[in-house]
Amino acid sequence: MKAIRLVQQGHPLELHDVPIPQPGAHDVLIRVKAAGICHSDAHYRAGKSRVHPLPLTLGHEVAGIVEQLGRDVADFQIGDRVCVHYLATCGACEWCAGGDEQFCGSAQMIGKYRDGGYAEYIVMPARSVFKLPAEIPFEQGAIMMCSSATSLHALSKARLQPDETIAIFGVGGLGTSALQLARGFAPAAVFAVDINRRKLELAAQFGAIPINAATTDPVAEIQKLTNGRGVDVTLELIGLPLTMQQAVRALAIHGRAALVGIMDQTFDVSPYHEIINKEAEIIGVSDHLASELPALLEFARTGSLDLSHAVSRTIPLDVTAVNEALDRLEKFHDDVRVVITP
Ligand SMILES: [Zn+2]
Ligand SMILES: [Zn+2]
Repeated sequence: MKAIRLVQQGHPLELHDVPIPQPGAHDVLIRVKAAGICHSDAHYRAGKSRVHPLPLTLGHEVAGIVEQLGRDVADFQIGDRVCVHYLATCGACEWCAGGDEQFCGSAQMIGKYRDGGYAEYIVMPARSVFKLPAEIPFEQGAIMMCSSATSLHALSKARLQPDETIAIFGVGGLGTSALQLARGFAPAAVFAVDINRRKLELAAQFGAIPINAATTDPVAEIQKLTNGRGVDVTLELIGLPLTMQQAVRALAIHGRAALVGIMDQTFDVSPYHEIINKEAEIIGVSDHLASELPALLEFARTGSLDLSHAVSRTIPLDVTAVNEALDRLEKFHDDVRVVITP
């Protein structure tokens, strides 16, 4: 089969002819119908994150059709439309047993530590495969498995309750999913903070109250709009010291700040005024859980999560087109989402 592979970091991906992988007893062989090209893939190619072993087929946002079943797989049939949770886990350790499989010591992320979806076929353990309802196009099913899933995990970690208020810092791919999914929790108000006017306009179309941090101090604006109370929940989806700090400062009494954006810098918090005195919480959010995917798929099936705007272009399984899409992600840092449809 054709597979687009990372051979050496810092170099373009290459098209290889490799054997079709064979499913083990608990695995499913999937014919790939859609594989999202994610910002992380540009980091992997550039060498900013570890990818091992090389050469390796990239792609962790995958949807397709069941082609072959392992001997002990009973939950699927050949021809089922499916999407893939990007972690292949052991299924047996204490973390897997407790439903926190993102901490499984032997978890392998596809497209990073095990062959991913930039190929004609992929093999996955059946417990990481989910049926994709007919209402959801393959392209949307694929990209949901990364940013939308993480947005839903952040909302559930932040324990957003009905009639609470939430402010989402950063309304790119993650944020646009987060503000739509937040509505499913029946909040009193959703504030969307960004510096990009176009993104804020889209956020407003999805019912959020836009706050332009390029022209106003978002913390002061949130205080003003909530009569000095602050918000119950903030999601920080950017990964900058300033926005992390704002996400904490904007909290109300008993507020929860869920930090999702990845950064390795530190940020300042005033423990008494910003945490202790309010009994506020800062919560870390890492990836998402397989157990959350059925709810996510249901949000998309019923239209509460609308990703029709999210896929900007589809391309064939063509190495030049894939490298160009990654170049664009590197150069423009935009949220233009390209999906491979082999
Ligand atoms: Zn991704
Ligand atoms: Zn495990």
